[in-house]
Amino acid sequence: MGWKKNFIQRKIFSFVVIFLLISNLSASVDNSIGKHKEHFSNIALQIWDNAELGYQEIESSKLLSDALAKEGFTINKSVAGIPTAFTAEYGSKGPVIAILGEFDALPGLAQSNSPFKDVINNKTGAGHACGHHLFGAASAWAAVSVKEWLEENNIEGRIRFYGTPAEEGGSGKVYMAREGLFEDVDIVLHWHPDDVNSANSKTSNSNKSGKFTFKGISAHAAGSPELGRSALDGVEAMNMMVNMMREHVPQESRMHYVITKGGLAPNVVPDLAEVYYYVRHPKMQMVEELFERVVKAANGAAEGTETTMTYEVMHGNYSLLPNDVIQKKMYSNLKMHGGITYSATENEYAKTIYKTFIKPSSVIGSQETVSPFKTSHSYGSTDVGDVSWLVPTAGVRTATWVPGTASHSWQAVASGGTSIGIKGAELAAKTIASTAIDIFKDQSLIVSAKAELQSRIGEDFEYKALLGDRKPPLDYRKN
Ligand SMILES: [Zn+2]
Repeated sequence: MGWKKNFIQRKIFSFVVIFLLISNLSASVDNSIGKHKEHFSNIALQIWDNAELGYQEIESSKLLSDALAKEGFTINKSVAGIPTAFTAEYGSKGPVIAILGEFDALPGLAQSNSPFKDVINNKTGAGHACGHHLFGAASAWAAVSVKEWLEENNIEGRIRFYGTPAEEGGSGKVYMAREGLFEDVDIVLHWHPDDVNSANSKTSNSNKSGKFTFKGISAHAAGSPELGRSALDGVEAMNMMVNMMREHVPQESRMHYVITKGGLAPNVVPDLAEVYYYVRHPKMQMVEELFERVVKAANGAAEGTETTMTYEVMHGNYSLLPNDVIQKKMYSNLKMHGGITYSATENEYAKTIYKTFIKPSSVIGSQETVSPFKTSHSYGSTDVGDVSWLVPTAGVRTATWVPGTASHSWQAVASGGTSIGIKGAELAAKTIASTAIDIFKDQSLIVSAKAELQSRIGEDFEYKALLGDRKPPLDYRKN
């Protein structure tokens, strides 16, 4: 019986060792994240207050780069020709793990942090309806925690924070990818605010957008309409054709537009009109095809209305490519750090906001749990997509918003500006820091993650940005 007893003892011993290692890592990450909580919560809330739009995030970008510089990171400012894009790195040898951080707000969504609709008059009229104030702050927070771990354990490794502006329609990361800024990176980690906690193997739609400008001839709309040619007719004819096209595109496609210029007075034939289009599909090649068909509709519309048309590609993102080797690590770390518990006040706040939802997809209390691992697809798009085709990339989503909240809503702005938002950010920071540490500890993960990336992209893949060679549209949010 001796060998059996020995065997069982050894088994128990190794279980205890593994348990201690896990609880040790969790405790050390908890400590260092806890130590910096006040600092990074303040930064997040300041970025929330600033609510700066894409490529105009001067103060927000500075808050993050200053905080990282103070922690001993080397800052590289204004990268890829974008004043608000930067990288911050700690360490000089070993593998490079990158953490992405966004910080742009959305136009027209200024809102206080009250649990009811309360439009405020801030400088920009914008609001953090996608939680990017938390995104940037928690990613920098995680980077600092990883840096401390590398230092304490004397481990060779480089942790690099990417300050990535203008995610919302500006494709900031695509210009950084096109510039080759991810070439020496081994693994990319990122996260996104949400109303649930999950770390799924996730894909997304690829997209491409363009502004179509029609020019005509103005004339008195009643006195001499025969002398005029309406630019707005051009836009309307184009929209009509694209709307008919919807019947003849693959099921998963998405096409949407807004008329951004349509004339100023009904009694003047408009000589200038503009329509802003997005097309999306899970496959980049299909996005290119759809976009070309939209351009054909625009050309046809100009021909038929005797107007002229020019267009400008505004942005374009690859689909998100999952990497299950890293994604599963991210999931197990999210499980280890667990869900989010509300205080009595937060619970009251959540209930008040919950009453404003029409068809909430989750219930209050679900923030305490972690959704089971699965593969999923998002019909939206992100500029993390391009990065994920170049470097093995994994993400996590945490409940920074009251369950049932949709992104890009006033409710998301509101709870993102409270302790509820901060709790979600803290969970994200812990999960990302633990995942980075796991990878530094077991670098065979990098090898398998790269092999997975290679098999997903295929032999012949060559990166070519969907937005072509256009320069960053630094003024796309300026009117
Ligand atoms: Zn977002």
